[in-house]
Amino acid sequence: MVDDSIYSLGLDEIDIKPSFRSTQIYNWLYKKYVDNFDDMKNIPKEQIVQLKKIYSLDTIKLSNIEKSSDGTIKYLFTLKDGNTIEAVLLLMSEKKIDKKDGYIKKSEQYTFCISSQVGCKIGCSFCLTAKSGFKRDLTAGEMVAQVVYLKKLNNIDQNRSVNIVYMGMGEPLDNYNNLVKTIKIISSKDGLDLNTRRQTISTSGVTNKIKQLIEDDLGVQLAISLHAVNDKLRDELIPLNKKHNISSILDIVKKFPVDKRKKILFEYLMIKDLNDDVASAKTLSKLLKGIDAKVNLIYFNPFDGTSYSRPSKISMIKFQEYLNSQKIICTIRQSKGLDISAACGQLRQKQI
Ligand code: SAH
Ligand code: SF4
Repeated sequence: MVDDSIYSLGLDEIDIKPSFRSTQIYNWLYKKYVDNFDDMKNIPKEQIVQLKKIYSLDTIKLSNIEKSSDGTIKYLFTLKDGNTIEAVLLLMSEKKIDKKDGYIKKSEQYTFCISSQVGCKIGCSFCLTAKSGFKRDLTAGEMVAQVVYLKKLNNIDQNRSVNIVYMGMGEPLDNYNNLVKTIKIISSKDGLDLNTRRQTISTSGVTNKIKQLIEDDLGVQLAISLHAVNDKLRDELIPLNKKHNISSILDIVKKFPVDKRKKILFEYLMIKDLNDDVASAKTLSKLLKGIDAKVNLIYFNPFDGTSYSRPSKISMIKFQEYLNSQKIICTIRQSKGLDISAACGQLRQKQI
């Protein structure tokens, strides 16, 4: 597939002269969200003709929108080759210190959950995305376009900050080069200007790519999908564990630079009678010694044909309380968008 999407290009990669024209184009794409070259009013007509010849803007097409009763919105996009991907908008309340009066205030924060691949190669036993296999990596343009669409469709002001979580379909670190390109494009000051500190890469633990991420020093946040405290169970849940086991992941994570206010996030999927006991919480707290970690417990979200079950609320709370007693910050992720299958692990290719 030829990637002629203009969303795949860094500011200095757009073939146009003089260079300020690239900044103007970025302004149209990422501040005004135009989806047509003809709407770029300050670009001379001849150059518009030229741009249309070499670049495309129809990188993804909106095919469906589903709204959950909790405010979560799931978007289905069709790619130019007919594959489909999903992206999710979540509304989360965030506590912030008011700069004027110093009081802690709650504000609604937008979080975009972005897909990085069509399907996924890792094949986790608890994940619906894995069930449809792997089709292909997304281009940077296809990832950038998801962000642009979600901002545009929700009339989100160009200056409003949003959180980006690479937690949709796919393993982002398996598509490393395009992921890094995406992060650079959406963080560009002349474009969407999204802070890298508000971008989180969630990974099943591709250690060599985590190492690369440390070397590339992008300033992004890291989330590790741990889900098990021993290799036997983790091998069963996440086949990649046979190559990148728990201790190798923890070793590399110890080297990951963390922001003063942030920590490394460990996601722990709770599955009934498998890993939801306090003994596992004890082992987890030992494993995390020496790591600036916080833990986010996730309820297993069921789907047709799975043999796993959702844990009880009480087991989640006991697990959380144990970790808290060990001075590890532990939160329970509210399952958002369950009624529209937009929750973690429920995204997949759809026929339209
Ligand atoms: N591939 C990356 C990011 C996408 S998956 C990763 O695995 O981290 C995003 C998160 O959803 C991961 O933490 C994943 O373990 C979790 N997840 C997958 N299937 C799930 C399910 N059925 N219920 C709850 N969470 C699930
Ligand atoms: Fe891939 Fe993540 Fe799903 Fe595992 S949980 S199959 S790594 S998307």
